[in-house]
Amino acid sequence: MLYFDNAATMQPHYKALEVYKRTAEEVFGNPSSLHTLGVKAEQVINESRKVLAKELSCDPDNIIFTSGATESNNLGLFSSASAYGRNGSRIVTTSVEHPSVAEPLKYLSTKGFEVVYIKPDRNGEINPQEFLEAVNDNTCLVSCMLVNNETGYILPVRRIFTAIKHKNSRVVTHCDAVQGFMKIPVKMTDLQADLITVSAHKIGGVKGVGALIKSKNVRIIPQIYGGGQERNSRSGTENVPAIASFASAVEYTKKGEELISFLRNNLNREYITINSPENGSPYILNVSVEGVKSEVMLHFLESKEIYVSSGSACSKGKVSGVLREFGVKNPDFSIRISLSDESTKNDLRTLIKAIDEGYNSLLHMR
Ligand code: PMP
Repeated sequence: MLYFDNAATMQPHYKALEVYKRTAEEVFGNPSSLHTLGVKAEQVINESRKVLAKELSCDPDNIIFTSGATESNNLGLFSSASAYGRNGSRIVTTSVEHPSVAEPLKYLSTKGFEVVYIKPDRNGEINPQEFLEAVNDNTCLVSCMLVNNETGYILPVRRIFTAIKHKNSRVVTHCDAVQGFMKIPVKMTDLQADLITVSAHKIGGVKGVGALIKSKNVRIIPQIYGGGQERNSRSGTENVPAIASFASAVEYTKKGEELISFLRNNLNREYITINSPENGSPYILNVSVEGVKSEVMLHFLESKEIYVSSGSACSKGKVSGVLREFGVKNPDFSIRISLSDESTKNDLRTLIKAIDEGYNSLLHMR
């Protein structure tokens, strides 16, 4: 089996699974309980917080564990809108965000916020100047992802946020860093982000756990009320084993050989168009295969136990609007190949050969 859908989810690292199982068995106390079993569970969470904090160069106290990036994005955006909406009703974002950012913002636009979308330019790039110009005195929040999940394009977040902070220091900056975390450098202060979203299952942890990291002075208005866990920011008994395995995935991630240019250079360019930029994520390559619909190629490869994605897993069945935003001419012919640190050159050779075979046989069937 060859798995190239790591941007959708990664196979959990065996160490992360080991930690999950051990923690579930041995540290089963409720972290809010006052007895030693509870204290032990709380310690596990706090140790995990330290591991993430070291990686992100932030204060462990500013890490809020959530059920995943979708919740982190919702919490970051809705919280900021309610805490800082009085500073202005404008929110600036890009037209290529993941639905877990795009949909909350769409909702806010029905509640009196004006949402301004910055689109990629003719070269498929988000222009920091255009972003900056969209931010005015009436702006309370900006949200810009770090790495696009469909194409691997790396957005100039640091440049955008630095310039914005300079222009209007009251603006809260949020970054969905899900596809960048543990893949390219992600540091809280470097990015000039007030809020950062990360997810465990994209880095070899288990599903259903993520984090929202906040800067010291940013206020969080909870979106889930209850027992006041996570310093009153997010109620609900913490998923202790998942949190521990998230931290172990961070600790055990080892950089593999960078293979994206090998893939790029060895695909047959007579019939394959590359939709990802040269200097994008070292893990994601989006390509279009001439004359072969995404799903047809996906299932052909699947018959050989090779797994890729047609666009983004979250837009299942729908033709991607994001690829069109990037100027991709034929999004319905595109497949996303996303690597992990375990991917090898040999795996890629097998994939390239299988795409060739697929193209030749599927094209003749038309
Ligand atoms: N943001 C981005 C950029 C993503 O790629 C994803 C996962 N597809 C998410 C957010 C949502 O992550 P989760 O599955 O942890 O909710």
